[in-house]
Amino acid sequence: MFWFDPVYWLFLIPGLLLGIWAQIKLSHANRKYIQVPVDSGLTGAGAAREILDHAGLNDVPIAEIPGHLSDHYDPTKRALFLSSDNFHGQTIAAVGVAAHEAGHALQHQAAYGLFNMRMALVPITQFASTAYMGIFFVGLIFGLLKAVLPIIIMIFAVMTLFQLVTLPVEYDASRRAKEQLFRLGLVHEHERAGVSRVLNAAALTYVAALVSAMLNLLYYITLARGSRN
Ligand SMILES: [Zn+2]
Repeated sequence: MFWFDPVYWLFLIPGLLLGIWAQIKLSHANRKYIQVPVDSGLTGAGAAREILDHAGLNDVPIAEIPGHLSDHYDPTKRALFLSSDNFHGQTIAAVGVAAHEAGHALQHQAAYGLFNMRMALVPITQFASTAYMGIFFVGLIFGLLKAVLPIIIMIFAVMTLFQLVTLPVEYDASRRAKEQLFRLGLVHEHERAGVSRVLNAAALTYVAALVSAMLNLLYYITLARGSRN
């Protein structure tokens, strides 16, 4: 039904293209800077450890996890997880990503408002995205799409809000990461541009996710308005 509607594609395509472009930029930046060694010789794990210890977060562990770009900070476990590439890598990419994840730990420590808000939104967003698939198919099978439209709109409103909160949290984590990397001398002057490029490329994927969620929301609102007339 939706996929036969040319208007849907009009709303969907900009988000899709932006998402693909962001992924290409990110993998380019990663591929380039995973080959550029850092002067300090620190690994990603080593750099993150320095930042955490300096902030008094000696009790936050750093563990290696499988997967590519699986790096994250888990606020429920108060632990940092780094992919093997970034855990062991002594490169601009590894140190940049690891420092970004340490930046999330610093946000948590500082009780940064948007970080807490994002944390609170995680279970609601997970529920909404699971519910979306079920509701969508129930609507499709029973021909009740009009009836479930308000629920679909609510789901995309939740997803848009989540992405809207995530974006500044990600930028702030990168800002904190760069600040600490330079202040502690873990990265030198001529390495700054590379670190920024890796982190900006990662942030772009969150911009794409936000645009995509917003356009979906707008589409369903337009659809609901059209069906009311
Ligand atoms: Zn992040």
